[in-house]
Amino acid sequence: MNRDFSFPIARIFGIQLRIHYTFFLIVVVFALGATAPGGLGVVSAMIWLALIFLCVLIHELAHSLLARRKGATVKGIVLLPIGGVSQLENLPESPQDEFAIAIVGPLASFGLAAASAAGAAALKIPLWPPNLYDGPLLSRLAWFNLIIGAFNLIPAFPLDGGRVLRSLLQRNRPLEEATRLASRIGRVVAVVLIAAGLFYSLWLVIIGLFIFFGASSEEAATIVHSRMKSLLVRDIMVTNPITVDAATQSGYLLEMVRRTSQREFPMLEGGHYAGMITTDVLMAYPPTTYVGYIADRGCPAVAPSDSLDHAEITVLGPSGRPAIAVIEDGQVVGLLTQADVARIVQQGR
Ligand SMILES: [Zn+2]
Repeated sequence: MNRDFSFPIARIFGIQLRIHYTFFLIVVVFALGATAPGGLGVVSAMIWLALIFLCVLIHELAHSLLARRKGATVKGIVLLPIGGVSQLENLPESPQDEFAIAIVGPLASFGLAAASAAGAAALKIPLWPPNLYDGPLLSRLAWFNLIIGAFNLIPAFPLDGGRVLRSLLQRNRPLEEATRLASRIGRVVAVVLIAAGLFYSLWLVIIGLFIFFGASSEEAATIVHSRMKSLLVRDIMVTNPITVDAATQSGYLLEMVRRTSQREFPMLEGGHYAGMITTDVLMAYPPTTYVGYIADRGCPAVAPSDSLDHAEITVLGPSGRPAIAVIEDGQVVGLLTQADVARIVQQGR
């Protein structure tokens, strides 16, 4: 089982397509509805379900393919009972690109709606009254895609409309402010949906709750990200850390560092940075062991002028180490620790 409770089913245009386990809930709901009196029948219901998810997939592919063209990394698409999610990384920073990537999904849905409606018109199939459960297939497809396109344009995170709204707000505001404002608008929309849902439909309540919490987590993630971007490694590094020479014996070093809170030490060899040694490793060896033999020589380093965001995402995080050295002109000038980065993330929340 996967950590995100989904499993891969196919690869389309090189993009991994995954299905969330809860997806089977909707299969059961559809099957039960289909066998009820006046239902579609199981076979027709499963065909309808497959078509629905094909439409959702086309919507997500529109996002993913455009995002990839704009330079983003597409990790995959996950199909959930409530729709699809494109897992995009390294999204372009420009509001114009964000706008285009967000709006292309609803546009794809409206395109599918228009094509289905045109097909229905050509075959003289009535489109009215709107229905998603029975009636002619082309009519159902037209209405379903129209609703999906419109629903996703609700101006609230994590829906496409929230991103569209933020990219428009960003025209005359910085990202962080635009995100806060867009999230606030999204929460107001969510509360209105929940309130309306209490009178009309449980579905609206569920959607409202989904939007309410989605807005908050999107806000937190963006603010952490932009705060980390505005900081440099030198802003949060431990300056002038204690360094050790490769020829030091571990027991001697342990004695020496007893009165410091520093737990990771950059090791020097011939005056140059050569790796890191931690107190845990020091204690695991006899006191006469030379530090040079037991140090972590593969430990990467960063520069004080690197952006904190970049250092964390590309070096410290992937390294899995508690701390890495900060080096300038061949000299160790600081230590960047996971604990300090976590503190910044915590403040952002
Ligand atoms: Zn979308």
